[in-house]
Amino acid sequence: MLLPYTGRFAPSPSGPLHLGSAVAAVASYVDARAHGGQWLVRIEDLDSLRVVQGATHSILQQLVALGMKWDGEILHQSSRLDAYQTTFDTLLSLNLVYPCGCTRREIVDSVLRLQGESADGERPYPGTCRHGLPEGRQGLSWRLRVPEGVVRFEDRWLGAMEQNVAHTVGDFIIRRADGIWAYQLAVVVDDAAQGVTDIVRGEDLLSSTARQQQLAKMLGFSAPRVLHVPLVVDESGLKLSKQNNATALDLTQPLAVLQRSWQLLGFERLKVSNIEDFWAQATPVWVQRLSRANLHGIN
Ligand code: GLU
Repeated sequence: MLLPYTGRFAPSPSGPLHLGSAVAAVASYVDARAHGGQWLVRIEDLDSLRVVQGATHSILQQLVALGMKWDGEILHQSSRLDAYQTTFDTLLSLNLVYPCGCTRREIVDSVLRLQGESADGERPYPGTCRHGLPEGRQGLSWRLRVPEGVVRFEDRWLGAMEQNVAHTVGDFIIRRADGIWAYQLAVVVDDAAQGVTDIVRGEDLLSSTARQQQLAKMLGFSAPRVLHVPLVVDESGLKLSKQNNATALDLTQPLAVLQRSWQLLGFERLKVSNIEDFWAQATPVWVQRLSRANLHGIN
């Protein structure tokens, strides 16, 4: 029997979809179909500096051209500010958030002092403002008090994962210094409000999952299951992204885009001549792949 399933595709409208985001969309859509579930589209447009005029329209047109039909109304995060504020107020009343007056530079300096010059990669927040703002400081951002402990989860593609958020990330920002709600907060609030049971997205967001599950738990939400698909890289090994100007999809050839995305997910091209047949054939192949990998994919 199929369990209730609600998936979502949550693009940021910072430009049209490129091949990397198409791969994530294809995986998310085919997983929802395989479960006979709902597939929602959410536009993550909180960061007004990154929002590009017309990008939402282009993304939706691209999804339509690729034969991906979403269920229900499209949710725009910019219309959800009250919900984020309410959640923030709850966290504040539980003393689970605190104001932080550190600048980026100060955090880097203090991590270097604590860990020596060799500190590299992701720097956990050292907790400078956790017990109160230093004298004469004003709060800039707000951080979540991350409890000690390891977050464990099963990724339906990658297998067992774990992360000690307190150690690797530290107290993370949920409201930015510019007043914008952080991605981590908005995603958790919206996934819960929309009843999302399954997140299927690119592996670049794998490192956010433990944070999101931690926050969901603190808010009493059940965390959605996750599946992260491989990232698409260019010839020099760089992740395709809007930032490095990945080219938009050629939608004069939607079937070719689907076939290419499918191959990038590790499958063979499907012997089909139109997009309806593509989806019809892709779905059972996906089911087979997940049950072969025995990754609790399909129930
Ligand atoms: N808006 C995010 C992005 O475009 C995706 C968020 C998510 O899937 O959780 O990278």
